[in-house]
Parts: sequence; C-alpha cells; structure tokens
Amino acid sequence: MAKKLKIGIISLTSCEGCQIAILSLGDKLLKLKDKVEFLEFRYLEDQPWPDHFDVAFVEGSPITKKQLKTLKEARKRADKLIVLGNCAALGGVHEIKNYRDRNKIIRYVYERKKGIANPEIREIDNFVKVDFTIPGCPINPEEFLRVLKNLVEKKPLKIPTISVCEECPLQGTPDCFIVKKRVCFGPWTLGGCGAPCPKNGLECLACRGFKKGVNLDVMIKSLSRFASEKELKEKLEIFGLRDELNS
Ligand code: SF4
Ligand code: SF4
Ligand code: SF4
Repeated sequence: MAKKLKIGIISLTSCEGCQIAILSLGDKLLKLKDKVEFLEFRYLEDQPWPDHFDVAFVEGSPITKKQLKTLKEARKRADKLIVLGNCAALGGVHEIKNYRDRNKIIRYVYERKKGIANPEIREIDNFVKVDFTIPGCPINPEEFLRVLKNLVEKKPLKIPTISVCEECPLQGTPDCFIVKKRVCFGPWTLGGCGAPCPKNGLECLACRGFKKGVNLDVMIKSLSRFASEKELKEKLEIFGLRDELNS
C-alpha cells in the first residue's frame, strides 16, 4: 500500500473555525483514512508531533513567543506549509487592533491581569515561507478537501481565480448591492465561496482576500460614491485587508 500523507493541522491564535470546517466534512474525511494520516490535529488526537510532516496546515496568527516557535518548528518539519483561512493569510478579525490604541484595548479586556502579550498582528508569511493558501473565514471545507485530494494524488494545487461577482447571480442573489448604491467588495474579491453573503443579504467583505492584480485605488474611488473613506477603511479592517491599501 502507498505511504499515507502525513498531515499536521496546527492552530495558533484564532477562533478555530477553520478546524471545525474541516471536521464538518465528516464521512468525506474518513473516506481518506487509508491515504492520509493526521499526526497533529488537536480535535482528534493528543500525541507529540512527529519529526516530519508532508504537509503542515496552519490556522491563526502567532501572538506569543511560544506560538512563533511553534510556527517556525512546523515550517522546519514540513515539506509544505499551507495557510488555512483569513486570519493566518491576512491577519483576520484580530488585526482590527492594529488600527486602534492597543494598550487601551488590552486594559479594557484584561482589567487586572498584567503581562499579556499584545503584539501587532501580522500575517504568517511575515514569519515563514508559505507554499499555498486556502482562503476564507472560515475556509470552504470542500475546497480544503479538493486541496487534500490533490496533495494525495500529487497534482498541482489550485483555487478558483474568479471574482465573487461571477458566482453571485448564479446563487439567486435577489438584488446586487452596488446597483442599490451600497458597498460590496464582490467585484474585487477572490471567489470560490459561492457568494453566500450576498445571497443572504450581507455585503461581501472580502474574507477570501482580493483577486491578484486588482487596482485598489480604483475600488476605493468607485465605492466612495456610496460611503465615506473612513467607513470603507473600517469595513476593510474586518478581514485584515486595510493594510493591503498601502502595499
Ligand atoms: S479564518 Fe476565520 S474561521 Fe478560520 S480560524 Fe480565523 S477567524 Fe476563525
Ligand atoms: S451583490 Fe456584490 S457580489 Fe453580488 S453581484 Fe453585486 S457586487 Fe457582486
Ligand atoms: S461572499 Fe465575500 S465575505 Fe462572504 S464568504 Fe464569500 S468572500 Fe467571504
């Protein structure tokens, strides 16, 4: 029998929703049990790490020195390191604090406790080399499964390169937000999620990140017809995209 693919699902500071998305695959994941071995996945086992992973999937951001060490160790032991989800790839919801008074926030959350690590939030690729990214908040579990199967079959890893707008009308979205003069980042955002937000009456806030090569100045200029610059920046903070404006 062919050797099983040795996988690690490694979680740093996050809501752990991407791990739950993986578990939601249920039987579909179990069907791969002869081909894939989860050697680190804290919802499934409690064993020390092996010396080597074929693939380490990393969720969340390194906030403490210990987590940074964990991330670097994962990189050292893995042939491939794949980022899982918005907070690992783009900084995510907790990156909002980068744009606020961090000291004030920590005093509010931890009124009495001192010595809590409170660094600026930075994407994982600031610390280690990243081989591939599965975007989203949370990730689309079916997309994770496709990537996993491609890894098993040694096929190239791909995610769709279409925009959310290309998927949105196919979902039966009642009315386009932009036509209604409301902010929606769909035209500039990487699709593949199936546009669940507009379908359910919520604007796309680009949790999957922007498509490669989009002109963000043009985006801001277009959307400034419907919202102030401050409002647009605050919306971009929600999924860690505000810093993309300056890059
Ligand atoms: S990307 Fe979203 S769902 Fe996934 S761990 Fe981060 S905050 Fe949670
Ligand atoms: S609602 Fe948003 S995602 Fe849907 S078509 Fe309009 S701009 Fe695109
Ligand atoms: S529609 Fe936009 S915000 Fe919603 S899941 Fe897709 S990319 Fe994320």
